[in-house]
Amino acid sequence: MDTRSTCPYCGVGCGVIIESQAGAITGVRGDPEHPANFGRLCSKGSTLHLTAAPVVLQTRRLLQPALRAERTAPMEASSWDAVNKQVAEKLAATIQAHGPDSVGFYISGQLLTEDYHAFNKLARALVGTNNIDSNSRLCMSSAVVGYKQSLGADAPPACYEDLDLADCVFITGANPAWAHPILFRRLEAVKAAKPAMKIIVVDPRRTESAEFADLHLQILPGTDVALCLGLLHACIWDGLLNQSFIDAHTAGFGELKALARDMTPAQAARICGISVTDLLQAARWFAASPATLSLYCQGLNQSSSGTAKNTALINLHLATGQIGRPGAGPLSLTGQPNAMGGREVGGMATLLPGHRDPNDALHRTEIASLWGVDDLPVKPGKTAVELFEAAARGEIKVLWIACTNPAQSLPDQALVRRALERCELVILQECFAGTATAAYADVILPAATWGEKEGSVTNSERRISRVRAAMAPPGEARPDWQIVRDVARLLEPVLRPGRPSLFGFETSEALWLEHREATRGRDLDICGLSYALLDSAGPQQWPYPEGAAQGLARLYEDGRFATPDGRARFIAKPYQACAEAVDARFPFGLTTSRLRDQWHGMSRSGLASRLFGHEAAPVLRMNPQDLPRRGLKDGDLVRIRSRRGEMAVALRGDAGISPAQADLAMHWGQEFISGRGAEGQALLGVNGLTQPIFCPDSKQPELKFTAVDIKRLDLP
Ligand code: SF4
Repeated sequence: MDTRSTCPYCGVGCGVIIESQAGAITGVRGDPEHPANFGRLCSKGSTLHLTAAPVVLQTRRLLQPALRAERTAPMEASSWDAVNKQVAEKLAATIQAHGPDSVGFYISGQLLTEDYHAFNKLARALVGTNNIDSNSRLCMSSAVVGYKQSLGADAPPACYEDLDLADCVFITGANPAWAHPILFRRLEAVKAAKPAMKIIVVDPRRTESAEFADLHLQILPGTDVALCLGLLHACIWDGLLNQSFIDAHTAGFGELKALARDMTPAQAARICGISVTDLLQAARWFAASPATLSLYCQGLNQSSSGTAKNTALINLHLATGQIGRPGAGPLSLTGQPNAMGGREVGGMATLLPGHRDPNDALHRTEIASLWGVDDLPVKPGKTAVELFEAAARGEIKVLWIACTNPAQSLPDQALVRRALERCELVILQECFAGTATAAYADVILPAATWGEKEGSVTNSERRISRVRAAMAPPGEARPDWQIVRDVARLLEPVLRPGRPSLFGFETSEALWLEHREATRGRDLDICGLSYALLDSAGPQQWPYPEGAAQGLARLYEDGRFATPDGRARFIAKPYQACAEAVDARFPFGLTTSRLRDQWHGMSRSGLASRLFGHEAAPVLRMNPQDLPRRGLKDGDLVRIRSRRGEMAVALRGDAGISPAQADLAMHWGQEFISGRGAEGQALLGVNGLTQPIFCPDSKQPELKFTAVDIKRLDLP
């Protein structure tokens, strides 16, 4: 039997056809009719069925609710009734004793839109807190704020078809050859058919994407804003601006021009560590090509100046008129399969449903009215890092974690572990056993996963695709939204006695319809869509308002942006170096990165043994010139030490890494990399080293740069 669904890995959002027999998933192939991939799948997508093999279901899945009497006691299998009762009672008691902000929710861009909606409503409408954030905070929150500041709405204006139509593709802070492979295959095909198309890659590492480019700007980590200002200076100097576009459709160019005046190409090239000639070439290709498309991801986003990096790039598009036309515009790539859906639903501390703002009283009233509650909480919620910092201070008593592994993926693991230990109740809603976070859980809620549940996701180009079940969840696992609903129903008599239930949902579609209503009249209006239409006509892009015949492939083609006056804003932010400086004690800049065949903390991709064929174990990569100077050679075990912790890992010389830099993939966790924090705690994986500093606008942490020392393991 064939079931059409969507790949649960990256934000490309490829369509898959799940093959099943007798209620078991037996294979997967690309959906030839899905417009994200037209039948292609990458190594991760094409091995999805291996992660649903019977042996995996029996040995690696969480199949039964479980709880433990106290932290040091073993986890014991339980029933849904018992764990739901325990969770609801503890939540109610905590809220009554310490207030709603003593509860926090940390959820995931892996969740479906319907799951996100259930969590958001539980947190805001029932518990009464804005303390709900998502691991998407680590992925794309700088892109969200960048779009809002520059264009007036969190809406990527371009689409995948623009890859076919662009004459210049500017890839910055991204390695799509590995992290968004199906998009990159499309780009390769376009380049083969259209050799005159220029591809520029900006990356501190010489990645596979950079190898393919016509021009690689191998900048020093964190210097993106200086580069964009230098490019803008060159455009001004060389007469490459689109002055009529600037005059007709934007505001604030004067201030930006004054800022760019001081960043000459020579100055920018010096800061970035590249040649002036290359910078000037990039400026000409970017501005003078008939259509320039930018693709960008974590290299811009995961930074203490992540929002400034995003707006600096959008400034370039606006100044050269490379936006709102076929083949032209900024297109941020989402990392997770439903990071975009989480933004739409407002399942993050800084957002409300339908791209609303929790700080806006009218927006709060609109959602309260839609949900049938008197009001929504006013106090700002805590974002990912802030949530765990508050838990470490004892302010968060109950933490409900769903579909994510913060004990591996958040920066400054020593702090994260202190936070998890200090919480009175850690609820872990997960599908896979053995994640690092499970060691801190008091209650396990086993969740259904890909291939087992119904709902929808939105990919990087604003395209909503259905996710469908090809088999029943194994054991007692349940869809995430059902787990949330059932606890909410137990809480309601305590927190809203005598009031009608807010959680009457019996299907994922009922949740989706409530979400849909929150988009009415907004920039992302999807009121013309339905499950039935998505089923009959296939995946659709938003906006898709009532009466529309189709969604919009690209935005702002009429030159009117989503700001009150319709003009896009130039944002004049100066260049700031990475938050943590290298010095004599920590002389190397460590970048975290992604491998082609692994995904996040490997809880799913690590189940397919063939995916280890590409890279079997973690290695630290350094420029070969740096090795003899440090008395190192290929294959040595080295100790990496940051201001927060240290760990041991094997070393590999790699000429693609710049001198004085190092790179370690972020996937490897407890089975592979162990170390200890500055306070002696056992730490796992690269985030034992990284820092919790974040962008002040987006609150996205600087996972892309850490000052470290690297020594042979046998040296002190
Ligand atoms: Fe899945 Fe992304 Fe690969 Fe497509 S490119 S198959 S969405 S991992």
